[in-house]
Amino acid sequence: MSFDAQAVRRQFPVFASRPGGQALHYLDNAAMAQMPRSVIEAMVAHDSLSRANVHRGLHPLAERADRAFDAARATVARHLRVADPAEIVFTAGCTAALNLLALAIGAELGPGDEVVVSRLDHHSNLAPWLMLARGRGVRLRFLPVTAEGRLDIDRASEMIGPRCRLVAVTHASNVTGAVTAVPSLVAAARAVGAKVLLDGAQMLPHASVDLPKLGVDFYCFSGHKVFAPTGIGVLWGRRDLLSALTPPFGGGGMVGSLDEDGLTLLDLPYRFEAGTPPVTQAVGLAAALTWLDEFDRSEIAAHERRLTDRLLDGLAAVPGVAVVGPPSLEQRLPVVSFTIAGAHPHDVCQVLGERGVALRGGMLCAQPLMSGFGLTGVVRASLALYNDDGDVDALLAGLAQTIKVLR
Ligand code: PMP
Repeated sequence: MSFDAQAVRRQFPVFASRPGGQALHYLDNAAMAQMPRSVIEAMVAHDSLSRANVHRGLHPLAERADRAFDAARATVARHLRVADPAEIVFTAGCTAALNLLALAIGAELGPGDEVVVSRLDHHSNLAPWLMLARGRGVRLRFLPVTAEGRLDIDRASEMIGPRCRLVAVTHASNVTGAVTAVPSLVAAARAVGAKVLLDGAQMLPHASVDLPKLGVDFYCFSGHKVFAPTGIGVLWGRRDLLSALTPPFGGGGMVGSLDEDGLTLLDLPYRFEAGTPPVTQAVGLAAALTWLDEFDRSEIAAHERRLTDRLLDGLAAVPGVAVVGPPSLEQRLPVVSFTIAGAHPHDVCQVLGERGVALRGGMLCAQPLMSGFGLTGVVRASLALYNDDGDVDALLAGLAQTIKVLR
């Protein structure tokens, strides 16, 4: 096997020495991935040697900070195959990006307009649109989900009608791991002249995303799920579309000129980045994407697929366990949610946590999906490139023990 997960793992300080010597089987990557040493060091170096506010300060330290910030934006653009770095807007995270867009696009919408979301979406891509719908009389329509936990794309043309202005759905589910059939979705949206936003929070850590090829209009993600720090995210949008929107937030760094009568705005991306941006975090994000780009992504995908297969096989052999998500590995991330008859997800996560297996349990900010399946919660194991057979086996062995304890 060519992919060496152990070598990758050695780059992560968190796995080096654990309190009490207990191994860490970190399977909560969909909530937050760990950071490699190179990312941590890039941020320490920046804060040690180049820390200053950005926005064209005139002393040398400020110039260094400006250069680092600009370079970070260019790195993010390259990673996403975006030719124009000005289309990359730094935000505090995926949620902040989604809210920014909902406010900006929302200002253009009114009664009679429709936004299509889905029952597979994270609350981060539902709450902003629900708030918009309530505030501006916009109709929200929910694409349904299949029994396998995939977006029911066959219903797309029926749900995405002539009044639809935007289709805003997840690129991949944080619960079922299902990857959205983007071409069909884009075709349905284009047929009625609607724009498409993808929430890439879960997708980006697992696949290289070529935004021009994907053919969508807006994309967003969070740094902390792609081995970067918290407090940073990205909103990407096509230049013509972003330029036509009015920024919902005002402040320093986005103003061309301002007097008592009003203000003019700077060009993209600054007009959407009011206030001091997350500079150190942007440096960390760029370091993380540079680190990821050094891998052969198809090797990572094959490694994660093999582990997912092992996990799904193992879970199938545990009595009372039911996987909530596609049984096949096609168009599926290494995010595996399941229920255990007679055991509450929180109890399972706590007992396994004490054994060094880090999982997530509960609604996973996906209440429409949960209620559609008649569930009050699931246990979720989500893998990253540094996971290995040992992590999967620790989960499976621990699960068998836990079930005995809890039943
Ligand atoms: N969308 C999806 C699919 C997610 O999984 C998450 C995080 N769990 C978010 C959006 C929100 O990301 P953040 O909390 O970093 O803003």
